Amino acid sequence: MDPFQNYLKKLDKAKDTIKFNDKIYEILTRPQRIIEVNIPVEMDSGETKIFTGYRVQYNNFRGPYKGGIRYHHNVDMNEVKALSAWMTMKCAVVDIPMGGGKGGIIVNPKQLSKGELERLSRGYIKAMHESIGPFIDVPAPDVYTTPEIMSWMMDEYMKHNGYHYMNRAVITGKPVKDGGSLGRDKSTALGGYYVLLDALEKYSIKNPRVAIQGFGNAGSVMAELLANNKDMIVVAVSDSKGGIYKKDGINVKRLLAHKTETGTVQDFQDAINISNEELLELDVDVLIPAALENQITENNADRIKAKIVLELANGPTTPEADEILFKKNVPVVPDILSNAGGVTVSYFEWLQNLENKYWTLEEVNTKLEKIMRNSFDAVYKTASKYTVDLRTAAYINALQRIEKAYNEMKDT
Ligand code: NAD
Repeated sequence: MDPFQNYLKKLDKAKDTIKFNDKIYEILTRPQRIIEVNIPVEMDSGETKIFTGYRVQYNNFRGPYKGGIRYHHNVDMNEVKALSAWMTMKCAVVDIPMGGGKGGIIVNPKQLSKGELERLSRGYIKAMHESIGPFIDVPAPDVYTTPEIMSWMMDEYMKHNGYHYMNRAVITGKPVKDGGSLGRDKSTALGGYYVLLDALEKYSIKNPRVAIQGFGNAGSVMAELLANNKDMIVVAVSDSKGGIYKKDGINVKRLLAHKTETGTVQDFQDAINISNEELLELDVDVLIPAALENQITENNADRIKAKIVLELANGPTTPEADEILFKKNVPVVPDILSNAGGVTVSYFEWLQNLENKYWTLEEVNTKLEKIMRNSFDAVYKTASKYTVDLRTAAYINALQRIEKAYNEMKDT
């Protein structure tokens, strides 16, 4: 399914439930601004190649646009639009004062040398630097962009706009030595973990058996967190090459070493190799999609046996699958809530840069926990109030906060 249509369907459902303000709804059905740039990059061979990049500034009623930059050969405008719309909702669900944006470049970064990657990243900012800034639009990493790339981008921005400490706040997800925040690397999974603890309590699930699809930044850190909790057990994980299942639990620490050595989670000890499709349909208590969009659809939702789904990936469940799971009484803790830990700590990084301060890891994680747990509680209450699924409830909370910000702007 086209991810932007997916967003619109979910928006419509929330709007109809609360009879939301028509004018603000219309505004939220399209981005405020779309920027397209063509970036000439001198390749190591001496030839010049042109790469196309985007930035979608979806909505800034609640604060500067905020969202990552994705490097992928499949990047397209509708995907970037959807991701920027989700960022708008996500920041509002966890009530951080940021709007939504997202960027992308059509490129397979694995085919570039380090020098080419740096020239491309600097070229993107050179073309874009007048449209971003600490109080305008604050990018961050996403798929295949790294802290080092954020550093190059920050430096390029400063080259054009001045080497002032506050200008470090133009971008987040930087290495700690360049003004990054402690805890940013694990924040997405940790935020999801806090939400999971509360969800398990609300739905009275004890000693859960968990399956995780995706073993990258989000999925592998989540697996580690769960493995360190003696009341939980990780029975299945997967990556792009396939998955593994072990009924009495996977040793995640050893699995991380195995993945580093072999490049895959498969063929691990005495675990059984399974496919990604099989992982989704396992008889577990918790299913955590942490890889791609459109994984749980009308074709497999009926066969999901998990008692609860926690979305660490963006957009893994289609609206049709949402309906099926709701009817089956399987709560889906939505992406715009459960993976919001990353943007929350990005916001902390922005704040630290503007105040020229450094917070301790404990400070970061304590604040993160409070925000995630309060947000889950607020979403759960809204779901009970309107008898809707958690995703619709999360959208409702977001819409109400965006409307409030809009009305406050109008009054000034
Ligand atoms: P990543 O690139 O680090 O990891 C992605 C993982 O998915 C890899 O293990 C890869 O092997 C696996 N994968 C790819 N294709 C797969 C397939 N067909 N089946 C199963 N696994 C497959 O990316 P990430 O940062 O972990 O992001 C994963 C998801 O989480 C994305 O949807 C991303 O938008 C979302 N997310 C990440 C963050 C963050 O801070 N990292 C924040 C919010 C949302």
